[in-house]
Amino acid sequence: MNNKENNEEQAFTEAEIETAKETLIKMKRGIFKEIDAGIKEGSSKDSTEYRGDNCDIASSERDRELSYMLGDRERKKVREIDNALLKIKEGTYGTCDECGEPISKKRLKIIPYSNLCINCQSRLEEEEKKQMNEDYIDHLSNLSLMVEDETFKEPDE
Ligand SMILES: [Zn+2]
Repeated sequence: MNNKENNEEQAFTEAEIETAKETLIKMKRGIFKEIDAGIKEGSSKDSTEYRGDNCDIASSERDRELSYMLGDRERKKVREIDNALLKIKEGTYGTCDECGEPISKKRLKIIPYSNLCINCQSRLEEEEKKQMNEDYIDHLSNLSLMVEDETFKEPDE
Protein backbone atom coordinates (compact mmCIF):
# COMPACT_ATOMS: atom_id res chain seq x y z
CA MET A 1 0.00 0.00 0.00
CA ASN A 2 0.85 3.61 -0.13
CA ASN A 3 1.95 3.67 3.47
CA LYS A 4 4.56 1.03 2.96
CA GLU A 5 6.00 2.81 -0.04
CA ASN A 6 6.19 6.02 1.91
CA ASN A 7 7.99 4.35 4.74
CA GLU A 8 10.54 2.83 2.45
CA GLU A 9 11.10 6.14 0.79
CA GLN A 10 11.31 7.83 4.14
CA ALA A 11 14.04 5.67 5.61
CA PHE A 12 17.44 7.29 5.24
CA THR A 13 20.42 5.25 4.21
CA GLU A 14 23.77 6.05 5.74
CA ALA A 15 24.95 7.39 2.40
CA GLU A 16 22.01 9.75 2.22
CA ILE A 17 22.66 11.05 5.69
CA GLU A 18 26.31 11.49 4.79
CA THR A 19 25.38 13.44 1.67
CA ALA A 20 23.00 15.61 3.65
CA LYS A 21 25.72 16.27 6.21
CA GLU A 22 28.22 17.27 3.54
CA THR A 23 25.69 19.55 1.88
CA LEU A 24 24.86 21.18 5.20
CA ILE A 25 28.50 21.78 6.05
CA LYS A 26 29.14 23.22 2.61
CA MET A 27 26.16 25.51 2.94
CA LYS A 28 27.33 26.70 6.31
CA ARG A 29 30.83 27.39 5.04
CA GLY A 30 29.39 29.29 2.12
CA ILE A 31 27.38 31.53 4.40
CA PHE A 32 30.33 32.25 6.65
CA LYS A 33 32.46 33.12 3.66
CA GLU A 34 29.84 35.58 2.51
CA ILE A 35 29.58 37.24 5.89
CA ASP A 36 33.33 37.31 6.26
CA ALA A 37 33.87 38.81 2.83
CA GLY A 38 31.18 41.39 3.42
CA ILE A 39 32.57 42.49 6.74
CA LYS A 40 36.17 42.59 5.52
CA GLU A 41 35.26 44.57 2.45
CA GLY A 42 33.28 47.06 4.48
CA SER A 43 35.78 47.61 7.26
CA SER A 44 38.91 47.80 5.12
CA LYS A 45 37.36 50.46 2.93
CA ASP A 46 36.30 52.39 5.98
CA SER A 47 39.67 52.46 7.68
CA THR A 48 41.92 53.03 4.69
CA GLU A 49 40.00 55.21 2.29
CA TYR A 50 38.03 57.49 4.54
CA ARG A 51 38.97 59.33 7.65
CA GLY A 52 37.13 61.93 9.64
CA ASP A 53 34.27 62.19 12.07
CA ASN A 54 31.47 62.35 9.58
CA CYS A 55 32.73 59.41 7.63
CA ASP A 56 33.20 57.40 10.79
CA ILE A 57 29.56 57.71 11.60
CA ALA A 58 28.56 56.94 8.06
CA SER A 59 30.76 53.90 7.85
CA SER A 60 29.72 52.39 11.14
CA GLU A 61 26.16 52.80 10.03
CA ARG A 62 26.95 51.10 6.78
CA ASP A 63 28.67 48.32 8.68
CA ARG A 64 25.62 47.81 10.76
CA GLU A 65 23.45 47.80 7.69
CA LEU A 66 25.69 45.26 6.08
CA SER A 67 25.67 42.88 9.00
CA TYR A 68 21.93 43.31 9.27
CA MET A 69 21.47 42.39 5.65
CA LEU A 70 23.52 39.27 5.99
CA GLY A 71 22.45 38.80 9.56
CA ASP A 72 18.75 38.17 9.65
CA ARG A 73 18.48 35.72 6.87
CA GLU A 74 21.84 34.05 6.94
CA ARG A 75 22.06 33.71 10.66
CA LYS A 76 18.69 32.06 10.75
CA LYS A 77 19.86 29.69 8.07
CA VAL A 78 23.04 28.92 9.99
CA ARG A 79 20.95 28.15 13.04
CA GLU A 80 18.78 25.80 11.02
CA ILE A 81 21.82 24.12 9.51
CA ASP A 82 23.37 23.67 12.95
CA ASN A 83 20.17 22.19 14.22
CA ALA A 84 20.00 19.79 11.29
CA LEU A 85 23.62 18.77 11.87
CA LEU A 86 22.86 18.16 15.52
CA LYS A 87 19.94 16.00 14.54
CA ILE A 88 22.18 13.98 12.26
CA LYS A 89 24.45 13.38 15.25
CA GLU A 90 21.54 12.38 17.41
CA GLY A 91 20.03 10.23 14.70
CA THR A 92 16.85 12.24 14.48
CA TYR A 93 17.53 13.86 11.13
CA GLY A 94 14.41 13.98 9.00
CA THR A 95 11.92 14.32 11.83
CA CYS A 96 9.94 17.44 12.57
CA ASP A 97 11.00 19.53 15.57
CA GLU A 98 7.42 20.49 16.26
CA CYS A 99 5.35 17.34 15.88
CA GLY A 100 7.98 14.61 15.51
CA GLU A 101 6.50 13.39 12.25
CA PRO A 102 8.87 12.48 9.42
CA ILE A 103 9.77 15.28 7.02
CA SER A 104 9.31 14.23 3.42
CA LYS A 105 12.49 13.29 1.63
CA LYS A 106 11.63 15.43 -1.34
CA ARG A 107 11.49 18.39 0.96
CA LEU A 108 14.83 17.55 2.54
CA LYS A 109 16.41 17.23 -0.86
CA ILE A 110 15.38 20.76 -1.74
CA ILE A 111 15.99 22.16 1.76
CA PRO A 112 18.39 19.82 3.58
CA TYR A 113 18.31 22.05 6.64
CA SER A 114 14.56 21.92 7.12
CA ASN A 115 13.75 20.95 10.67
CA LEU A 116 10.00 21.09 10.29
CA CYS A 117 7.51 19.05 8.34
CA ILE A 118 5.52 20.79 5.68
CA ASN A 119 2.51 21.24 7.96
CA CYS A 120 4.37 22.86 10.82
CA GLN A 121 6.49 24.90 8.45
CA SER A 122 3.50 26.37 6.71
CA ARG A 123 1.86 27.13 10.01
CA LEU A 124 4.95 29.01 11.16
CA GLU A 125 5.36 30.67 7.83
CA GLU A 126 1.87 32.01 8.12
CA GLU A 127 2.92 33.74 11.27
CA GLU A 128 6.39 34.79 10.18
CA LYS A 129 6.07 35.60 6.53
CA LYS A 130 2.57 36.82 6.07
CA GLN A 131 3.42 38.77 3.00
CA MET A 132 5.10 35.91 1.23
CA ASN A 133 2.17 33.71 2.08
CA GLU A 134 -0.26 36.25 0.72
CA ASP A 135 1.60 36.22 -2.55
CA TYR A 136 1.46 32.47 -2.62
CA ILE A 137 -2.24 32.36 -1.78
CA ASP A 138 -2.80 34.99 -4.45
CA HIS A 139 -1.03 32.77 -6.88
CA LEU A 140 -3.10 29.77 -5.82
CA SER A 141 -6.40 31.60 -5.99
CA ASN A 142 -5.49 32.90 -9.41
CA LEU A 143 -4.92 29.34 -10.47
CA SER A 144 -8.20 28.12 -9.02
CA LEU A 145 -10.05 31.04 -10.62
CA MET A 146 -8.65 29.99 -13.93
CA VAL A 147 -9.85 26.46 -13.38
CA GLU A 148 -13.25 27.67 -12.28
CA ASP A 149 -13.51 29.86 -15.34
CA GLU A 150 -12.98 26.91 -17.54
CA THR A 151 -15.55 24.74 -15.82
CA PHE A 152 -18.05 27.57 -15.84
CA LYS A 153 -17.83 28.01 -19.55
CA GLU A 154 -20.81 26.34 -21.06
CA PRO A 155 -20.36 25.18 -24.62
CA ASP A 156 -22.58 27.81 -26.19
CA GLU A 157 -20.29 28.44 -29.07
ZN1 LIG B 1 5.59 18.90 12.07
